[in-house]
Amino acid sequence: MPLTVTERLAANRFEVDEEEPHIVVDQDLARSTGAGPLLVAVCPAGVYSERDDEIDVEYAACLECGTCLAVAPPGALTWRYPRGGFGVSYREG
Ligand code: SF4
Repeated sequence: MPLTVTERLAANRFEVDEEEPHIVVDQDLARSTGAGPLLVAVCPAGVYSERDDEIDVEYAACLECGTCLAVAPPGALTWRYPRGGFGVSYREG
């Protein structure tokens, strides 16, 4: 029986860089451009959420697909790959 998306995501391993987040949101620019709903909608890992007019970023779960960077208004998002040894390791698929 094929694995569900949730089961596949649960099979990944994440090494979280607590010192240098690889995703940073410019809250003012994101707010003024309405980026929040877009980021929430496109991220397959549910990294983004909105609360009290702020965008929360749970970067530890990032799959490094780059979709959010592709759709974000210029300057609203600073995104780079995690430093060496950090980030996602795929185990399935
Ligand atoms: Fe989500 Fe992909 Fe952006 Fe990571 S790179 S935050 S998984 S959309």
